[in-house]
Order: sequence, then C-alpha cells, then structure tokens
Amino acid sequence: MRRLTIAIDGYSSCGKSTLAKEIAQKLNYVYADSGAMYRAVTLHMLNKGILKDGAFITKQVAQELNAIHIRFKFDSASNRSETYLNDENVEKDIRNSKITKHVSVISAVREVREKLVEIQQKMGIEGGVVMDGRDIGTVVFPNAEIKLFMTATNQIRAERRYKELIEKGESISLEQVANDLKKRDHYDMNREISPLRKAEDAIEIDNSDLDRESQLAMAIAIIEKKKVDLQEKV
Ligand code: C5P
Repeated sequence: MRRLTIAIDGYSSCGKSTLAKEIAQKLNYVYADSGAMYRAVTLHMLNKGILKDGAFITKQVAQELNAIHIRFKFDSASNRSETYLNDENVEKDIRNSKITKHVSVISAVREVREKLVEIQQKMGIEGGVVMDGRDIGTVVFPNAEIKLFMTATNQIRAERRYKELIEKGESISLEQVANDLKKRDHYDMNREISPLRKAEDAIEIDNSDLDRESQLAMAIAIIEKKKVDLQEKV
C-alpha cells in the first residue's frame, strides 16, 4: 500500500510537532517541520538587515529568497531532524523569541510562501511524510489522506510555551507569552494568503486534557481506520 501523507495543522503551541514527530517515528515516515522553514527565512532576513524592527520591503525579501537554501538533516546524536540554512545548522537559532516575534510577518509574504510550498510539496511527492504547520491540509497537501487539526485552550498553550522558554533560559512572563501567542494566531488566521484554518475534511483533536500517549494513540487509531477504508475501496 502507498505510504500515506499526513497533514497536521493548528494554532501555535498546540503540540503539533510533538505529535507529528511521534507519528513519524511510529510509522517510520519522514517528519517535516514547515514552521522551521518559515523561521529559517526569517532568520536570514534578520541577518541580512532586510527585516528590521518588524519592517521590510517586500521586493527585497522576494529577491533575497534566491540566496536561500533550506534543508533538513537527521542528527543521530540528538535523534532528530535539524534545520540547515545555506549549509549552516540553525536549529537552535530559529527557536528563540526574536524569530518567533517576527516570523508571522515574513510568512505572510506571497513569494516566501510560494517558494516554501514548492519545496514542501516535493518532500511529500512519494508519501510517507508527516508535515506540520498552518496550511498543510489546505494548501500544501490538499489531497492528504490524513488531516489533523490540533487545538488546546489558550491557557494551556501559554503554559506549555512558557515552560519551554523558561527551560531554554529565556526571561519572560506567562502573561507576555499568552499575549504573543494570541497575536501570532491572530496574524496567521487573518493574513490574505493561506491563512490558518481547519480543512473541511480535517479531524480536530483538542489535546487540552490529553497526555502524549493518549494523543498519539488517538492519532494512530485515526490512521489505522483510514488505511482499512482505503484498502476496502481498492
Ligand atoms: O510552527 P511554528 O510555530 O514553528 O511556526 C512559526 C510560524 O511560521 C507560524 O506562526 C506561522 O506564521 C508560520 N507558518 C506558516 N505556515 C506554515 C508553518 C508555519 O505560515 N505551514
């Protein structure tokens, strides 16, 4: 049977990447973090001074895209796939608050989306991929066999993100984290191109009260059922 394409979308800090990684590991599929790609483009634009204080000229961003090469490489020491920007490992650099603060404005640029969506679609051409993001089930893989849409309450999402940042050594308040999340979701949901929304055929998983094991079990049950349905159709 053809290996499936699994699209996972949802709000920020909903545990999309945790679930996506675990599904990929369980099924021996490739995990692709589309958010990391938007983060890498944002890092590049900041490094080049094209993006400064949240402002940029779209034409410059579009031109600079030609100088960007993004790829993922599996690192056996950390047992995860890491993001490379022009052959430099930027996995850590793209996760800080500065990038998080600026990424939504850069990801709203049409040219940026066109370039990244093209790369993402190539990654999924043979199936066997789990990709998480904001437009995976709607734009990148509209024909994905499995589409999941993750949600959790604002409070729980803010607490999860806060814990992550504190563990990384950042100094930030829970209130600030909650505000940043709200802002980013608002921006992602209201942009003109490929806004964050649930695909009509996506299955929603609210993981506010789910632990990792139950969340994974729920997703695997959905995937197994789909496999049976697809086989019955043949
Ligand atoms: O998933 P993550 O939080 O790393 O995504 C960072 C940002 O990248 C999102 O807030 C959104 O602005 C953008 N993004 C996007 N489309 C995707 C994935 C991420 O616009 N498919």
